[in-house]
Order: sequence, then structure tokens, then C-alpha cells
Amino acid sequence: MIDSHTHCFPPELFTNPNSWTRKHMESQWLHLVKPRDGFSIQGWSHKEAMISSMDKAGISKAILLGWYWEHRNSCEKHNELMKEWIDFAPNRFIAFAAINPSQSPIEQLEFAKSLGFKGVGELHPSIQNYSQYKKQWNILCEWCSDASWPLNLHVTEGLNEKHPGYIKTDFDIYLELAKNFPKLKIILAHWGGGIPFYECNPRIKAILKNVYYDTAATPLLYDYKVFRHVINMVGVEKIIFGTDFPLKSFINENDSMQINLAINKIDNETDLNDSEKDAIFSKNILNILNY
Ligand SMILES: [Zn+2]
Repeated sequence: MIDSHTHCFPPELFTNPNSWTRKHMESQWLHLVKPRDGFSIQGWSHKEAMISSMDKAGISKAILLGWYWEHRNSCEKHNELMKEWIDFAPNRFIAFAAINPSQSPIEQLEFAKSLGFKGVGELHPSIQNYSQYKKQWNILCEWCSDASWPLNLHVTEGLNEKHPGYIKTDFDIYLELAKNFPKLKIILAHWGGGIPFYECNPRIKAILKNVYYDTAATPLLYDYKVFRHVINMVGVEKIIFGTDFPLKSFINENDSMQINLAINKIDNETDLNDSEKDAIFSKNILNILNY
């Protein structure tokens, strides 16, 4: 089984988030980990601890996603750390690059490829200024499409009670990207924030042909009936298992149990059959990665 949506973060980010974010001008990160009005659900992990959580849950490989940093320099630091993790356990970790498309995207992509990365994400078109830097975003999408690299994008629910770190995402941008880059494999995180519903419209369905949806952070967002509902709307071949580890999707539970609990919930609270589980837990992502 593969967890296709996880993160690893440089230790400076959690030892002293205030000074790190100020120094690197990453104000969005600070809103997320130090929300003014409350408690952060961001968790942290080290590579050995993450591998032991994966073992406990029966996960053979995890995709480490980058982050939607506001500056290229932060992306590079984060990629350096992911490179360290994939070198440490090449059979357990796959890395997707953190890229800020506004600053020389091809240079960043080629460098990530030379490090052994296999895709891009998790990017955020609103925080990373898609509207202002459309040309650069298009260069990135074209490169990924040619290289057959998947692109994972964060999506916030269309209808949302504003939680800490909430930044609205514009559904039109995802549609535009899918329309302009029909061969690009786009993975929309967090069940696409509700976008699967629009696939009931046959014209939209045709445009979103190469769009996939990951299940990251399900316990924070939806009832587990979401699995059956989304299968009915888009087909099981478009759904990919991801947890968002080390995010505390199960707020009161121990970090090391998060992946395990996510799998138990699927086993206990959905009616998925074995072939559907196989598709969601491994077959779909392996196809996307051309494995
Ligand atoms: Zn996300």
C-alpha cells in the first residue's frame, strides 16, 4: 500500500516557526502552524519515526510532497531535506518537488529531476500567485506534461467554514489548467475540495479526464461515505489514498498512529471491495507514476 500524500518538514520550521517565517518571509506558514485564534493540527516527524508509522500501518511506500512556499529559496531548502530522506530509504520514499513557479520554473524542475524526484506538489495556485504568474505556471505545466510528471495541487473546499490557515482556492484555475494541458496528470488534494461533483456534468467530465483526487485529511473534512459517493461520480480509478501525515487528521491521537487509523477507518467505515481498495491504495498511483 502507498500513502500518496505525506510531508516532511525541515526541523527549523518547528523548532522556531516565528523566526524562520520572518526570516524567509513565509507568512502563510505561520498562519498555519501558529494560528492567532487557536491550536495548530500540524504534526512533525523524523524519517525513522515515519518509517515505523508506515510499518505499523502496512504502508510500503510514501510520497513526500513539497509545500507551496512563497519563495524559491524555501522550496530549495525543503527539496534538500526530501533528497536526504529518499537517499536514506530509497525503497520507502518517493519525492515530489516543492516549486515556486514564479521564479525560473524550468531551472527548478530540471534540478529536482537530477535529485531523483518524480513529480511536483503540493502547490497552491492562490498562495503562489497563479493569476499574476500565469506564463510561468504554464511553463511548469508544459514541462510536467512532457516529462509525464504528476502535479499535486492543494484544493480548499468550495464551501468552507474558515479554519486556521484557510485560503480560498479558485475552482476555475483547476479547470483552466486541465483544459490547457490535457495530458498533464493533475492530482487534486483533499478530494478536490468538492470538484468531483462537477464531473456529473459530461462537458466538465471530458475536460477533467486526466484529473485525480487524493483522500488527504479525510477525517477532518468528510464522513467516510465520501468514498462511495466519489466513486459513483468519477470512478474508482481516479481516487488515490493519502493521509497528509504528519498532519494530525485524528486530532486527539498519537502521531505514530495517524496512518494506521486512516486505514482502519476505510476498513471499518466504507463498503469498498478488495479490488476497489487495491485501486485506491496502490494501482492508480502506480499507473500515474508509470511504475
Ligand atoms: Zn493540502
